[in-house]
Amino acid sequence: SNFGIRESLKRLGISEVNSGVTTGTQWFECKGNITSSYSPIDDSEIAKVVNADINDYEKVLDTAQEAFKQWKKVPAPARGEVVRQIGNALREAKEDLGKLVSFEMGKIYQEGLGEVQEMIDICDFAVGLSRQLYGFTMHSERPDHKMMDQYHPLGVVGVISAFNFPVAVWAWNAMIAAVCGDVVIWKPSSKVPLCALACQNIIQKVLKDNDVPEGVFNLVVAKSSVMGDNFIEDKRVPLISVTGSTAIGKRVAEKVGARLGRTIAELGGNNAIIVAPSADLDMAIPGIVFGSVGTAGQRCTSTRRLIIHEDIYDDVKNRLLNAYAQVEKKIGNPLDPSTLVGPVIDKDAVKIYKTALAEVKKAGGQVVFGDKVLKGNYVLPSFCEVENHWQIVQDESFVPVLYIMKYNTLDQAIAMHNDVPQGLSSSIFTMNMREAQTFLSTVGSDCGIANVNIGTSGAEIGGAFGGEKETGGGRESGSDSWKTYMRRQTNTINYGTDLPLAQGIKFDL
Ligand code: NAD
Repeated sequence: SNFGIRESLKRLGISEVNSGVTTGTQWFECKGNITSSYSPIDDSEIAKVVNADINDYEKVLDTAQEAFKQWKKVPAPARGEVVRQIGNALREAKEDLGKLVSFEMGKIYQEGLGEVQEMIDICDFAVGLSRQLYGFTMHSERPDHKMMDQYHPLGVVGVISAFNFPVAVWAWNAMIAAVCGDVVIWKPSSKVPLCALACQNIIQKVLKDNDVPEGVFNLVVAKSSVMGDNFIEDKRVPLISVTGSTAIGKRVAEKVGARLGRTIAELGGNNAIIVAPSADLDMAIPGIVFGSVGTAGQRCTSTRRLIIHEDIYDDVKNRLLNAYAQVEKKIGNPLDPSTLVGPVIDKDAVKIYKTALAEVKKAGGQVVFGDKVLKGNYVLPSFCEVENHWQIVQDESFVPVLYIMKYNTLDQAIAMHNDVPQGLSSSIFTMNMREAQTFLSTVGSDCGIANVNIGTSGAEIGGAFGGEKETGGGRESGSDSWKTYMRRQTNTINYGTDLPLAQGIKFDL
């Protein structure tokens, strides 16, 4: 039943009642309360998890700190070799884990598989990186002196992840952190704890085979009262990487900032696409529809706003109507291969969908398509005509509701585009080189991700991922994001027989 999910759960080591805490290969007998994980498909209980209490948390922290002392001394390419094997373990478990992601989070199976592929890709990236943790060398102003940068492991890295990418966000952080010589404590979203347990089970054999110290890859499933402030205020955790809403991110950044710790904040988006008069609509429409209804509108990079040139506005609107009508026929069980849109995560999300559409109507907007709860956690993706400055349009509603509006000049479109508090992902569809380059220029998009002729969602791991303004400013995954996971040191070495001072200062004794 349900496309073999029970067999997958078994292979992933998920039982009826599970410990929610491990330091790598050992699962704890936890002392916290017991919570259940439910599938958004039909709200059925999948399994139970015994949460950590504060003593469990302390034990994990101690083990992690001890492990760091050993792990930081393992050569980086040898750490990379462990990550290479983790990548292979993930390849073997791809179908089972992809299915669990789909079952517990609600995204379609293809997207579940895509998420696991992203984990595999980041493992490959991190393996290569393990031989490329480069610093610069500099020419000193002093004779017989040499200067250089070095990057050293940082310590215990806390990873707080959101429900919508229940496995990939951990991998983006943990695999980079691991080759950097850090140890990771993962606190997953309590909406999707089983995905986290499964990941730990998948990597266990690799950790054992390679004698990786207990405490390098830790998982703590816990209530916010245990893993909230205690975690983010903990001076023993020099870096917290938080993925979630802007509200949570602000809290984490404040608490971590107060102790001068480091944060990587990956928060909400309000992503827009500009559709210019020259746009190739045969490309733009699928890009827009995937971006707005894919993952039932629950990606941080989901397309929330469309800014359409007035000359093609009616054409785009009609094509969208047509496409949304096609999507309507393919809403259902996300494990069914013919489904395009699954459920939203829970009843609260259904409420957010209803509220957003009610707000649009209250502000004088027009619902062009949608505005219907189908059953349970299934809603009809919707799009509406709105004005950019309305509060509901300025906020991120984490559901499949798309806002469309008109523009006249590119300057006006870019101004509307940037006039929101968030700054994650953005794109323009145009065949006009001047428009494309302007969008990417200093007077163009103010987002961390800006694309031309592709949509806002579906970033590749090779680039640095993250956004500006209320999206938090953090960067993770590819490019040089790894630098945040390490401590930087500038060295000056004197190999001469004199002691000249910098800036030519004389200090004669
Ligand atoms: P959320 O903010 O409700 O939860 C995020 C995480 O924070 C969860 O693990 C949650 O348990 C934890 N948390 C809650 N209270 C806490 C506290 N007091 N102290 C420490 N941790 C606490 O977000 P969500 O609903 O799971 O995810 C959706 C949000 O995440 C959206 O806003 C989306 O845009 C954002 N997101 C951003 C990115 C990105 O890379 N920018 C990626 C995915 C999701």
